[in-house]
Amino acid sequence: MPIVRVALDVPLPTLFDYSVNAETSLDVGQRVIVPFGRKQVLGVAMEWAEHSGLALGRIKAVAQVLDDVPPLPQEMLTLLRFCSDYYHYPVGSTVLSALPTRLRAVEPITLKQSLAYTLSAAGKVLDMTTLPKRRVVQQRILQALRQAPMSGAQLRSLSPSAPAALKLLLEAGWVECVARKGGPLLNPLPLAGEEANVKSHCFNEAHALTIEQQRAVDVVTQQTGYGCFLLHGITGSGKTEIYVHLMHEMLQRGGQVLLLVPEINLTPQLENYFRSRFPDVELASLHSGLADGERAQNWLKAQSGEARIVLGTRLAVFTPLPQLALILVDEEHDPSFKQQDGLRYSARDVAIFRASQRGVPIVLGSATPSLESWYNAQSGRYRLLKLTQRAVQPATLPTVRCMDISNLPLQEGLSEPLLAAIAARLQRKEQSLIFINRRGYAPVLMCTACGWLSECKHCAGKLVLHLNDRTLRCHHCGFQQRVPHACPTCGDADLKPVGIGTQRLEETLQSRFPEARILRVDRDSTRNKGAWNAMRKKIHDGEADILIGTQMLAKGHDFPNLTLVGVISPDGALYSADFRASEKLFAQLTQVGGRAGRADKAGEVIVQTAFPNHPLFQALRAHDYEIWAQTLLAERQMAGFPPFVYQALLSAEGKQESDAYNFLKQARSAAQGLQMPVEVYGVVPAAMPRRANHHRAQLLVQSNKRKTLQEFLRAWKPILDALPAGKLRWVLDVDPMEF
Ligand SMILES: [Zn+2]
Ligand SMILES: [Zn+2]
Repeated sequence: MPIVRVALDVPLPTLFDYSVNAETSLDVGQRVIVPFGRKQVLGVAMEWAEHSGLALGRIKAVAQVLDDVPPLPQEMLTLLRFCSDYYHYPVGSTVLSALPTRLRAVEPITLKQSLAYTLSAAGKVLDMTTLPKRRVVQQRILQALRQAPMSGAQLRSLSPSAPAALKLLLEAGWVECVARKGGPLLNPLPLAGEEANVKSHCFNEAHALTIEQQRAVDVVTQQTGYGCFLLHGITGSGKTEIYVHLMHEMLQRGGQVLLLVPEINLTPQLENYFRSRFPDVELASLHSGLADGERAQNWLKAQSGEARIVLGTRLAVFTPLPQLALILVDEEHDPSFKQQDGLRYSARDVAIFRASQRGVPIVLGSATPSLESWYNAQSGRYRLLKLTQRAVQPATLPTVRCMDISNLPLQEGLSEPLLAAIAARLQRKEQSLIFINRRGYAPVLMCTACGWLSECKHCAGKLVLHLNDRTLRCHHCGFQQRVPHACPTCGDADLKPVGIGTQRLEETLQSRFPEARILRVDRDSTRNKGAWNAMRKKIHDGEADILIGTQMLAKGHDFPNLTLVGVISPDGALYSADFRASEKLFAQLTQVGGRAGRADKAGEVIVQTAFPNHPLFQALRAHDYEIWAQTLLAERQMAGFPPFVYQALLSAEGKQESDAYNFLKQARSAAQGLQMPVEVYGVVPAAMPRRANHHRAQLLVQSNKRKTLQEFLRAWKPILDALPAGKLRWVLDVDPMEF
């Protein structure tokens, strides 16, 4: 009896053997329902096996094969095995976590029926010469349908007036609409002779490429097989335009393109943009904000080849794409490409593996590349493509000024020069953006009499003051309480907010500029669905004068009337314990500064800092990423940090402090016992040593060779799995981004 090995979502590093009845037809990559313990669970058939380690009598049979959707292609299975192996995460959980939720359920999925158009019996025998000559579009539709049924999107690609013509054809009874089940149509490539049409749509409103842009496009499109390109372009240099041209070229060749973007709040906007550039190309988006059904549908469209462009956040890297020809990773430095729970993968790194597995080019785009990518470009592993000019002339980079606040009086955190600059913008009816990476009113509440600070009783962090609903809230565990009327320790009533958050800034600016329309954009003000979109519209329509925002506002938005960016208190990151903090800050400030002066108006950035001569600010003023990257790389090399070493972080958290530490100490001696050439550090508290009543500690292991680290982890992981952990939670994070 044949035996199949099945991936199940269980925390064990193995596949499970099941027998397959002679009458069952099953392909590798198909979803199956199998008995597991007392339950029926969903799994994915990974491979056939000659023998099983289990006694024949103990092997259970596959209960059901789901053939509602096509099997996962072998290429996906290989990719997922690679991820499981590299991130040391159970293979079954890896495979299942890559599937959209709908496909993980034990019921077959029912897809929304999609419609197709086909010739009716009358249409098939229609003599087209009897149609009036001027009904060109109707004739084209009839001709196209003679070859194959088509979806509405495909018909629309024939002509902008296709919908009207189609309506007439339906009314005449020559065309009929049929429902098709089982997902999208296969082979939706443009019909012969339609290529020119696609092209003219693509480039409807594009402006000509600059020489630099054209060169970048040429280099990538001339690449045969795998190649990794780092596209380093200053903000506003037109990276997106390059993506569009590359997409166009790959679509012409019949390929599919995967574009990964960091933020979910950017996808609707980007989606609309790419739709407008490719009005006749099927585009599917994939991100966690989609409803389950929609996500499954889009995933299947990608798998069938109907969707030619797939646009998504990190999870989209696991989408089957039979004709994948190019991967684009936009803002490749963005930390959100790294998943922080479950399978802790970096979508950028997985995308690079995928491109090399598939033998296609990949482009990593950024104004501030991650040091890892920059280092790879310097050492020749990636090819560097530079864009040094802003695409839209005469737009130039904003002037950056650093205000030394160590000898400037501040009003609620704002210096007089910054206030004057805002006033000038108000007068000129231009917009200002004040950037502060702290939401709430103030980061902490203090008693002026005894020094009591509002601390979270469940965490090692402080409770943030939110004045609009008079609460103190923990941003780590979600705990919240009413603001006390008096100090809980000494009873004094003089409680003072310390420090500045977005709400306090809003209040200050409103009282200083009572006429100004102020818009605060942070996680609190955009919590409701659609709120952020509404705000974006307001900003675009010029219905806001001053924007106050956290990093949400820094990314990828283009506000043509914005000419001033003020940055409040960025200094914490300069001397942070997190060695990546200053790298992130530079990227953030470059990005937020890039919002200023993107159209024909000159932009200005004012940074309030106590360290105006710090190399970070010098580089920022000079718009010189390269010199900053060099400085950082030299520091990292001296200190022995990535990208010069490869790291894995074992973290543990438990209700008892001793549990976490004991576990990690045992893990540490096991690591040392392996006597492999890796550095094993001591057990230390996590950056947030207590969160939601759990004590947290960690252990770092590193090596200057990726391969050595992987060999070590392969030996170490089974020992960790066997250590008694009790109720303790622990995770192993390969290439960690957070500590
Ligand atoms: Zn007190
Ligand atoms: Zn807390």
